Amino acid sequence: MTTSALVRRSCLPTLFAVLALAACATNPATGRRQLSLVSEAQEIQIGQESDPAITAQMGGAYPDSAVQRYVRGIGLRLAASSERPSLPWSVKLLDDDLVNAFALPGGYVYITRGILGHMNSEAELAAVLGHEIGHVTARHSAAQMTRAQLGQLGLGIGMIVSETVRKYGQAVSTGMQLLFLKYGRDDEREADQLGFRYMTNLRYQPRGMTDVMRMLNSTSAADQAGMPAWRSTHPDPGDRVAANEQRIAQANADFSGYALNRDAFLQHLDGMVYGADPRAGYFIGTRFLQPTLRFELTFPAGWVTQNGAQAVQAVSPGKDAALQLSFAQAASAAEALSKFAAAQGVTVSGSSAQALNGLPARRAEFDMQTESGVLHGLMLFVEYGGSVYQVVGYAPTASWSTHAATLGPALASFRGLADARYLDVAPNRIQIVRLPAAMNFGTFLQRYPSSLPADEIRLINQVAASEQLPAGRLLKRVTGGRVPTQ
Ligand SMILES: [Zn+2]
Repeated sequence: MTTSALVRRSCLPTLFAVLALAACATNPATGRRQLSLVSEAQEIQIGQESDPAITAQMGGAYPDSAVQRYVRGIGLRLAASSERPSLPWSVKLLDDDLVNAFALPGGYVYITRGILGHMNSEAELAAVLGHEIGHVTARHSAAQMTRAQLGQLGLGIGMIVSETVRKYGQAVSTGMQLLFLKYGRDDEREADQLGFRYMTNLRYQPRGMTDVMRMLNSTSAADQAGMPAWRSTHPDPGDRVAANEQRIAQANADFSGYALNRDAFLQHLDGMVYGADPRAGYFIGTRFLQPTLRFELTFPAGWVTQNGAQAVQAVSPGKDAALQLSFAQAASAAEALSKFAAAQGVTVSGSSAQALNGLPARRAEFDMQTESGVLHGLMLFVEYGGSVYQVVGYAPTASWSTHAATLGPALASFRGLADARYLDVAPNRIQIVRLPAAMNFGTFLQRYPSSLPADEIRLINQVAASEQLPAGRLLKRVTGGRVPTQ
């Protein structure tokens, strides 16, 4: 990957370049006439092309095949009951601790282990998957892209030039841009309605939707690094809980035989990773440690950092400079540097071949012409553990002098990590406990302690602090995490 790929705005416009003809058609799920610049074949193509990047960016598929199969099975049955059963549906559980679920056009549905760990029944899972399937069947993101394209045609591409470095820091791929597209409130209401339809098609207790909406109301809209979570990409269309209760009442149906499947669901969560996984890297203060790849790098103090699946990024407090660590696509540091130097718009000055902390390295200072003006920066390529790493620090030329003295030492802090204390880490995992006797929640917390605050355990179990719980009830505790703090 070259720096230009990392820092330039990505290629959403090119995605639309292929779309030329507008069509108006009746949507099979909603019965509404929709103007669409995106045909079904194009929807499928967009989903297919974005799926690998989205999956990689969001932590990859969760490696436990049993829980993966379980989630996919339910998602595929819901999709088969929808108005567009013949789309090439794909339902994936992602190894990401954010509370989120989303869909791409063409039938690509994603759910994170973060949201799954917060659910308490199969009916809740069916409600969220059904909602996402609803966004696909109603063609909400295809319609959004049509709107985005219409907007772009009006504004012209020139508007992009004036964007600030804040945008470079995000370095989002096409797929990620699709995720940042927010649905409208009407779309949310419609997806809830369709999700309700699909889950009740499969005889899931519609109360599961109320339960999961309540849970989602108590989670935050985004993580600290500003990644979108459920509540930021799915705005609340009003009181969702009340709307669902009304839907249940108006359905005028007897749902008493419908399933919540609480215990079966919870048993599938036993052993699942919960929260951030330190094996993917963790911070001790400003020090980033990667125990699997065995390296460390110290970021500038006060910068906002984000450990993504493909890169670790940091942005200065004033959002006018960025630092990014990622893999370079080259066999050696020398090859990586010559590829970088040959990239369009890049001018390299003052390169050096001096080793860094005993590792073969190449360093260079550079200027880069981008759509948003000239950037100045420092580039480091370093060979370690059979890979070539790329660490780049950059800022618009005007603010470079403010950051030069901070970025130099940050790049030079890349080194191997061998101390067993930092390598021997483990994530927290959910353990399902069957209560041997009736007890209140406080007693449960004492008898089955977790390595997380009581409030978080209460939240993921969706019980009240003083609730009396019957014998035989399944509850989640979270244990087993091991991460050094200094
Ligand atoms: Zn939604």
